[in-house]
Amino acid sequence: MPSRQRSVAIAAVAVLLAGALAHPGSASAAAHDNDITLAAGQTALVRFQLTGEQMFTDLLTEGADIAARPRTTAGVVQADLVVKGAELAALTARGATAVQVIPTVDPAQLRRGKQRVAADTLQFLQAYWWTSKGTTFLQTQVATTATDDPDVEITVTWTTADGRTGSVPLMRFVDAGEYQYHWALPVKLPAQPVSVVATSSLGGRSRQITPGAWPGAAPPPKPSGYQQDFIDAYMTPTDITARIKRLKRQYPALVDVLDLPHATQGYRRTAVGYLGDPAVAAVVVETIRYGAENQNGIQVRTVDPGQPNRALTLAYRDRVLTVSLATDAAGKTTSSTTEVADAINARFPDRFRAFAEDGSAGLPMPVAGPVRLDDGLKGTEVPARPWTVQALRIGKVRDGSKIGVLAYSQEHAREWATPLVTLEFAERLLANYATDPATAELLDSVDVFIIPTVNPDGANYAFNDFNFQRKNLSNHCTGTARDPRNRDSWGVDVNRNYAVGSLFDGYVGASTNCLSGTYAGTGELSEPESSNVVALAESHPNIKYSLNVHSYGGYFMWSPGAYKAAGRVTLPRPSIDEAKYFQDSARRIVGAIAAERGTVTWPSYTGPVADVLYSAAGNFADHLYYDLGITAWNFEVGNDLWNDAANRWEGVGFQPPFPEAHGESQEYAAGLVELIRIARDKEASGS
Ligand SMILES: [Zn+2]
Repeated sequence: MPSRQRSVAIAAVAVLLAGALAHPGSASAAAHDNDITLAAGQTALVRFQLTGEQMFTDLLTEGADIAARPRTTAGVVQADLVVKGAELAALTARGATAVQVIPTVDPAQLRRGKQRVAADTLQFLQAYWWTSKGTTFLQTQVATTATDDPDVEITVTWTTADGRTGSVPLMRFVDAGEYQYHWALPVKLPAQPVSVVATSSLGGRSRQITPGAWPGAAPPPKPSGYQQDFIDAYMTPTDITARIKRLKRQYPALVDVLDLPHATQGYRRTAVGYLGDPAVAAVVVETIRYGAENQNGIQVRTVDPGQPNRALTLAYRDRVLTVSLATDAAGKTTSSTTEVADAINARFPDRFRAFAEDGSAGLPMPVAGPVRLDDGLKGTEVPARPWTVQALRIGKVRDGSKIGVLAYSQEHAREWATPLVTLEFAERLLANYATDPATAELLDSVDVFIIPTVNPDGANYAFNDFNFQRKNLSNHCTGTARDPRNRDSWGVDVNRNYAVGSLFDGYVGASTNCLSGTYAGTGELSEPESSNVVALAESHPNIKYSLNVHSYGGYFMWSPGAYKAAGRVTLPRPSIDEAKYFQDSARRIVGAIAAERGTVTWPSYTGPVADVLYSAAGNFADHLYYDLGITAWNFEVGNDLWNDAANRWEGVGFQPPFPEAHGESQEYAAGLVELIRIARDKEASGS
């Protein structure tokens, strides 16, 4: 009987929609057993307790509209009947008891689209509130079971203790083609929320929950006289070297300076120039050695020999490369750009490299020059020689017997605030050792390693030539990618050059294109910068914690940091216990950051890299975690700032005005001090 089957189906799924009953009032679902009545003309689906099996058989015989027959237990016989008011009264008179009005959607509302049968269920993954600089914020993440429906709209409704309420629309977050969850940026609230509930456009409704306080942890108070604020300007690699030297001189009993084993290229580039006009036809000529190696200023020219039937010839004399073009019988020059480039490469392979400019291949080579080759570097104060990257080792006992913590910064050249963080951290520990017993206790029990600038060459380039430089100064490009117009795109992304979860292993988030911002290099650990950090960690097996300091955005992250595209298969997830340890420790560190100037790293930005940011194949934290068993974290310092007038969050960038960078250095240095406490606690617990 179709009508009965439909009633059953609706009854089974519409239980949540109590408010949609067509007959509120005396017949509401909340009514007590004996109170259920219906008006004479009203119809409802009602669950009855019958007097026995015989009554059920009688109803069947009478043709009653029996929607369902619930299981009989302990002699209690029940049936769900569609009844009118008069039928309810008649059944009650015969001894049946109405026990429940089963909720049903009002079809009129259904047609208007205001009520639909719930097709999904919702669950809060996160719901946290916090107060920052006097403003209260709420952030939530909700997962729907309707993972494949791109049109599901989810709304979170919050309520404060005094009854104020409001709602937040969430956004669907899909990564690598896989639904993750719905979320929203933190929203401003008038007061602390006491409850939140999520509803979806499919009719789903979450449990109402009480949001948690984020981060829910605070560092111990600083003692009076605690010294801090050792940062008064942005610092170049040269400034950083000087600061390291000064700290060693000032605190000889607590500091070693470690020269890392792989010297970098240094602030150097080959000398290069266009022979000809790139807009018409040109050959790019580049020196093999660096410009600073007496190559800047070498000149190149092409000449017309002024005679018929001459071959292409080359001569290098007095720092001038002269290319005499071939001629035909009429004395007209006949050499092409490609022939000129090939001839230079064949004749002077140890001195020059040449190629036809992109678009110039095979064109007639003009008479041109002399052209002065130059490395184009503008930083006159930077030493043009290989750079020795240095690490500070800080602690009372530096023999490997104490638990080690590694903090390193500026893998990415343009992230100018990051060395300020690690240097402020170093100096807080050193300056307070003599006067603050708590700091002394930390430095007596922990062995701290700090690399303020992992990528000094790129940093020098960022300070002098191109402030968005992210990568190092290695140039692995070949062919026309070496055209000097690409000079700001060369280099290897140091934090994509490590050996775990790498591009070379098939992971996502790095590039084989030498001009890409995430170029992974020619192979794992092809770069001195990455090799240095690995060498330091491998040669000091007491290192059990690490923090990779980047900017910007306000993230606190851990492994896994990469996944493979097909199926979004991440590197192995930490165990449940370990994930909890990561999260609990993260909340302590986020709490220490917040204690400085009220900056709260969002709960949605606290978690595994692959989940909260993106897949970053070959990043160093994964290498440390999976290969060396180190509890490895990543900061992105520089949290978004709330603009109350504009009612929005605003990014701070890689090189904010110095007062903001200064603030970041102070708060994240405090986060690093908390990391030392976490290491100390781990050591003390003996686990
Ligand atoms: Zn970075």
